[in-house]
Amino acid sequence: MTDFSNKKSGFKKVLVANRGEIALRVIRALKELGIKSVLAVSEADKDSLPAQLADEKICIGPAPASDSYLNISRIISAAIVKKCDAIHPGYGFLAESNHFAEICASYGITFIGPSPKTIALAGRKAQIIEVLKKNKIPVVPGSHRVVKEINEAKKISKEIAYPVMIKASAGGGGKGMRLVKNEQELEEAFHTAMQEAQGAFSNPDLYIEKFIESPKHIEIQIAADRFGNIIYFPERDCSIQRKHQKLLEESPSLKVCEKLRKKLGETAKKIARIIKYETVGTVEFILSKNDFYFIEVNARIQVEHPVTELVSDVDLVKLQVLLASGEKLEIKQDEIKIHAHAIECRINAEDENFMPQAGKIKHFILPRGAGVRVDTALKPGAVIPPYYDSLIAKVITAGRSRKSALKRMKIALDEFKIQGIKTNIPLHKKILENPAFLKGNYNTNFIEKLNLR
Ligand code: ADP
Ligand code: ADP
Ligand code: MG
Repeated sequence: MTDFSNKKSGFKKVLVANRGEIALRVIRALKELGIKSVLAVSEADKDSLPAQLADEKICIGPAPASDSYLNISRIISAAIVKKCDAIHPGYGFLAESNHFAEICASYGITFIGPSPKTIALAGRKAQIIEVLKKNKIPVVPGSHRVVKEINEAKKISKEIAYPVMIKASAGGGGKGMRLVKNEQELEEAFHTAMQEAQGAFSNPDLYIEKFIESPKHIEIQIAADRFGNIIYFPERDCSIQRKHQKLLEESPSLKVCEKLRKKLGETAKKIARIIKYETVGTVEFILSKNDFYFIEVNARIQVEHPVTELVSDVDLVKLQVLLASGEKLEIKQDEIKIHAHAIECRINAEDENFMPQAGKIKHFILPRGAGVRVDTALKPGAVIPPYYDSLIAKVITAGRSRKSALKRMKIALDEFKIQGIKTNIPLHKKILENPAFLKGNYNTNFIEKLNLR
């Protein structure tokens, strides 16, 4: 693996402002780079595995995220008290807060991510679409800007033809999206969506897109330095979703040929250049038949980054830290190759109806073996608190062929035992034996169509 073992970063000590598996992933990368780690923990996570394995820990407040992982002044104070040069935000929480990134900069602390300006643009989806459309990037037919009032919404929806989607410009995590089938439904949907967007994202801005019937979600990982060097990685197919959130990802996609791979990659690179992207990030597209459309940029490390690490043999988290510390991107595009096929199953603590579960894990056995990677912060006696995301582990398998990665995943999920809490492992097993999935014939409506009982 390109693991940058000869590299030294300019950072001496980094505050990890996150929890769970991603906190642990970052702590391990920092150790490999010879950088000290300080973990910011809430009271609920004081005894977590990442807290045990970080060089130091500091409590930033009570369990609710608003009092700890989202509390900017407490996190900045922690970084100052512990004399950290940089903060790694992980994903979720403050990872895409341009406000937080700006405050870090004002205290002379490096935010490990792109610039506040780029984060702000990526986080206002209507605006980035407007900018990219002007730069001739293919975007979904729609408003391509914020739609302020209902008559405008009616006009645009009629032009692009129903069904349409009303989307919150500041939305994320699959939230803030609403399908509208006809004009009769539009008015109420528009006003409710606006209130919900204000409530959930403190921003009422909405935009409209044509609802693309069962597309594929295909995304491109990018890496960029501050000297204008940009590379892209082979695509990830993240079409297996529930509630517009990814459940299983794989790379490469069976439905992307070499020519399309290059086209998507070059488009992602162009986008990165337009928005002055730095460090690592992802450009998301939806793919219908042979057309692809940009949907958004995720200005952070993503949950599914290990899939790309196993395919391309590059350590993305170490690369992210090195790029943030001002290192030049030394990997060239033609060095990025497909070395394997990789699949990730997100193991969530949730029941058959996708309802999050909290509680004590009595006993568990993690899968192992050749070609199996498990990213998790689980430890004996671990308690899954009700306050945070339901992701408890990621099982990633790789093989020379898709068939071998799939076989390894099936064995891994059979080996994976958890007692005391419900998980979606049974659902993943169902997906893995579905004939359409096995052939690669699946789109974002796959879970809806799957017979879950
Ligand atoms: P990906 O899987 O592509 O990394 P997700 O959409 O699953 O991205 O988001 C990763 C994490 O960030 C999840 O914990 C998700 O709930 C959270 N997240 C992302 N954006 C938001 C947002 N705007 N509001 C709340 N949570 C978010
Ligand atoms: P988020 O910021 O919450 O991740 P996205 O814009 O990335 O929001 O959309 C999340 C998912 O919703 C996509 O992966 C796709 O499955 C679905 N989706 C988004 N826009 C459309 C659209 N215009 N037509 C059909 N499906 C869509
Ligand atoms: Mg998205």
